Amino acid sequence: MSGPTESEDTCGWRCPEHSDRVAELFCRRCRQCVCALCPVLGAHRGHPVGLALEEAAHVKKLTQEYLKQLTTKKQQQVGNRNQIEDAAEQLKAHAESSKTWLTGKFTELRLLLDEEEVLAKKFIDKNTQFALQAYGDQIRSCEDQIDILSSLSNRVCSISQETDPVQLLQT
Ligand SMILES: [Zn+2]
Ligand SMILES: [Zn+2]
Repeated sequence: MSGPTESEDTCGWRCPEHSDRVAELFCRRCRQCVCALCPVLGAHRGHPVGLALEEAAHVKKLTQEYLKQLTTKKQQQVGNRNQIEDAAEQLKAHAESSKTWLTGKFTELRLLLDEEEVLAKKFIDKNTQFALQAYGDQIRSCEDQIDILSSLSNRVCSISQETDPVQLLQT
């Protein structure tokens, strides 16, 4: 029989082969708690043994060290994750500020272009007005000439219609 006893004996377990004895040793080959008789006379004769309490303390120490390593590794991973998350946040913020900057710049450029467009159209209007004025002057001058030529033709026409040769020659 094996199992915890109510006493505070070493290991608190009974030897599986000698149930009247406390299993105070640990057989390293069989990985089993046995009594002091077993490595001398019993099934664990010649097997390497150690004090169960010391073995347990050793295993406990190893597991605690391993746990410490695991904790350290976990902390490192947490640190890595936080760094990457920070980098991602910074990237997002940088992208947003770049876009805001571009919005400002392009708004500025559009305003400048609008101004340039207005100025260019005004320039066209002004030059067109000058040219139209010159055309108007030329048209008036042509009309003056036409009037002069018309009155001249009228005179010539009336002269040509003169039937009296004397009148025709003396006009
Ligand atoms: Zn035994
Ligand atoms: Zn053994």
